Amino acid sequence: MRTAIVTGGGSGIGLAIAEKFVLSGIRTVIIGRDEQKLSAAKELLGDMCITIVADLNDLNKLPEVVTNITNTIGNIDILVNNAGINMKKEFTEVTDEDFQKIILTNVTAVFALSREVVKHMLQNNIKGSIINISSMASQYGIPKVIAYTASKSAIEGMTRAMATELSPKGIRVNCIAPGFIATAMSAKALNNDPERKAKALGRTPMGYLGEPADIGEAALFLAGEGAKYITGTVLPVDGGNSIGF
Ligand code: NAD
Repeated sequence: MRTAIVTGGGSGIGLAIAEKFVLSGIRTVIIGRDEQKLSAAKELLGDMCITIVADLNDLNKLPEVVTNITNTIGNIDILVNNAGINMKKEFTEVTDEDFQKIILTNVTAVFALSREVVKHMLQNNIKGSIINISSMASQYGIPKVIAYTASKSAIEGMTRAMATELSPKGIRVNCIAPGFIATAMSAKALNNDPERKAKALGRTPMGYLGEPADIGEAALFLAGEGAKYITGTVLPVDGGNSIGF
């Protein structure tokens, strides 16, 4: 049986990825900060779902998190770096602390967790799959999300760098770039800003927000044998938003 880690798996896109994995027979460890959200997810997903309460910003705890998983559950075959935070603010209002907070969660923690999981995969000769989650913010320019855009552009560069270094060793690394998907994060960014929502939908040829499950389907594909010759790619799952007029 394959085992996956999905960060931020207690809600939104991460929960949908975890659900898709569990339904496909992949034992799935979800990592998040909110114990209640994780318990609710566990109730929904059952025994194939294991929850770990951890703040990914605590970088020095991540090696221990990974060791605990490998000691108690076994080998890790799949890592989905899904947890992320957004911040919508005028460019000149963003403080250095704001900027660093986004980079810490969206970039540095992704690197630190991936490094620990990759060490484990290499030591155990695992043919692994790592999936990072970027955003439309790195496909084109979106105002008022400077730190988020920097972080998601970094994720795409990291995906390519990791893929070139790790693919020869049997670990594929890919990225999904979600378009506008109906979750708490997009609701916060769009629901009190009708102009922005109209703009997002106006350039989405399919004309509606995606569902978290749409990202789950893509993640399942990239994690599996059907994608065995795919590495270093960024797959937009966006209703055409990135090519929209
Ligand atoms: P969400 O806010 O519902 O979920 C994010 C999850 O990450 C939450 O469960 C949160 O608790 C967790 N998380 C955040 N920081 C954490 C930390 N330090 N430690 C542990 N867990 C942490 O948002 P979502 O819309 O499901 O977003 C998931 C991913 O998809 C994010 O990386 C986001 O940037 C990306 N994304 C979302 C959209 C969208 O339209 N919803 C579009 C593009 C990209």
